[in-house]
Amino acid sequence: MSDKAIFLDRDNTLVEDPGYISDPDQLKLLDGVAEALVELKALGYKLIVVTNQSAVARGIITEEVLAEIHERLRQLLIEKNAFLDGIYYCPHHPEGVVAKYRKESKYRKPSPGMLLEAADDMDIDLGQSWCIGNSRSDVEAGLRAGCKTVLIDTPSSHKESSSSMSPASATPDYKAVNIKEAVNIIKKYMRSAADDRSKTQTAAKTQTVSVRQTAEEVSATAEPSRPAKQPESEHKRQEQPQEQQTPTATTDELLGDILAQIKSMQRTEMFHEFSIMRLMAGVVQVLVLFFLLVTVWFLMSPERQDNQVFVALGFAIVLQLMALTFYIMHGRK
Ligand SMILES: [Mg+2]
Repeated sequence: MSDKAIFLDRDNTLVEDPGYISDPDQLKLLDGVAEALVELKALGYKLIVVTNQSAVARGIITEEVLAEIHERLRQLLIEKNAFLDGIYYCPHHPEGVVAKYRKESKYRKPSPGMLLEAADDMDIDLGQSWCIGNSRSDVEAGLRAGCKTVLIDTPSSHKESSSSMSPASATPDYKAVNIKEAVNIIKKYMRSAADDRSKTQTAAKTQTVSVRQTAEEVSATAEPSRPAKQPESEHKRQEQPQEQQTPTATTDELLGDILAQIKSMQRTEMFHEFSIMRLMAGVVQVLVLFFLLVTVWFLMSPERQDNQVFVALGFAIVLQLMALTFYIMHGRK
């Protein structure tokens, strides 16, 4: 049986993108990436990175350095119990400066070459697979390979969509604010697919029972004209509940849509984890404002004393430095 996979873009999807990564030490995983990959693996997906690396064609890095960068990526993820099944990259670019790599390539996204080759290498069912990336070229490659797609919707993806890509041909199946939300989308999709399957199975069983009952009734009455009519009436009877359910289903869908809209309004904030450092920074920042106000009040006082002004200002400066320290510590968490 074929496997299913998640094809992952690298830059700005898994790791921060400072432009071109030319050194393994530059690699920094984005928030929540390792945890998301652990979850996706637990859902039964192979994890395959597919990345355009025109830096090779542009002479910024060699393939050897790229191999070191990718080894570092694997290690960073292994430290957090996330394991990649493969990394595919395309070193080519039609405007590269290194002759060997200067060409159009069927592997360069938005072409689906890397996904197709990985599917061939690892016996992957592309119809059961997903492509996650932050650019329209990731989406287009995923769609052309026959995968479902999630666009990590960042300002860079907006910039790219207005350039060379055809937005119509690269409309993602879903959008997410980060990879954590992408995982939630995939989990939700899997749940609803499982629900659909169980509904279909239930309907099939009901139909079998009805047909059997009909056959029994027919043999009991032994009327030759009934068998032809009976399935029709059974068919209608099965359709009827569906017709009755339609208004309810529509209302449910509408309510579901409204709920989804409300949720989406704050979903970015939803992924911000609580941090004691951020809380402390906020509290200290309020104190800074208080001491600045005290400083102004001392300055405006008719019996102004410079000592008081300096002390209040000194407190404000020290507290501001503390607040900045807390912010930085929160950022490095
Ligand atoms: Mg990217």
